[in-house]
Amino acid sequence: MELIRLDHVTYQYDEASAPAVNDVDFSIEKGGFVGIIGENGSGKSTLAKLLNGLYQPTAGHVYVDGLDTASDEDLYEVRKRCGMIFQNPDNQLVATEVRDDVAFGLENLGVPPREMPQRINAALEAVGMREEASKAPHLLSGGQKQRVAIAGVLAIRPQAIVCDEATAMLDPKGRREVMDVMQRLNREEGITVLWITHFMEEAAMCRELYVMHEGKTVMHGTPREIFSQSEKLWEYSLEEPCIASLCRQLREAGIPFPMCLTADEMAEEAAKRCS
Ligand code: ADP
Ligand code: MG
Repeated sequence: MELIRLDHVTYQYDEASAPAVNDVDFSIEKGGFVGIIGENGSGKSTLAKLLNGLYQPTAGHVYVDGLDTASDEDLYEVRKRCGMIFQNPDNQLVATEVRDDVAFGLENLGVPPREMPQRINAALEAVGMREEASKAPHLLSGGQKQRVAIAGVLAIRPQAIVCDEATAMLDPKGRREVMDVMQRLNREEGITVLWITHFMEEAAMCRELYVMHEGKTVMHGTPREIFSQSEKLWEYSLEEPCIASLCRQLREAGIPFPMCLTADEMAEEAAKRCS
């Protein structure tokens, strides 16, 4: 069943400039984990902001759970269903205690105070931050801060979470933590995830990928399908993940080696050749 539908969506910041998003038309199934990659300025962040009604299309329609994001009456319901996580965790945390940061969105939604502690605890538990509930957010690592931001969105009980370069400012450990949390929420809670990234290793972990270029979606497929077309990716200024590139270079050097996306997969293939 589809949860988000983009129906020929175009968005122009101003009339003089080219559309930032240009006639994008696709849908995202409930429970999907969909990645979006594309060079800088290809329209990924603009697309993200169209998905929960922060922006409204200049042409076309965005539907979230059947609700049109352009409808003023439904905007509130759209935002409840589709949460957003941005790049900079510091811009998303405002309170002096982790727990209050998670409460912030609930207060805005008018959730009754007696319901709040349970929701806050469950959300912090889900991102592995329950024990940090009374800590000051500024004392946390980048990965922990992003997990608190995710808890803040989760407490609202969304159906989908859009992560726009949510790991871009984190160290490798923080990136891993945040990706792990989102994969688990997707698997165990059925949360639909739209994962925008410039890390190809993360893109390889999505179940489905879109490539954006100059506001359009130009490629769509599984990571394996996308990353086996390296020359096409180069046209869009993208590279395959390092492991996939290594496999390709082996093939080019005359060593038949299948395309692998992860080091584990490559090790397995290598072991097969030696047994
Ligand atoms: P990405 O996230 O893929 O880097 P963006 O969606 O941020 O791409 O940008 C797409 C295009 O829209 C770019 O050409 C960018 O310069 C333009 N753009 C982005 N934000 C604004 C804005 N606030 N005002 C005008 N143009 C913008
Ligand atoms: Mg961006």
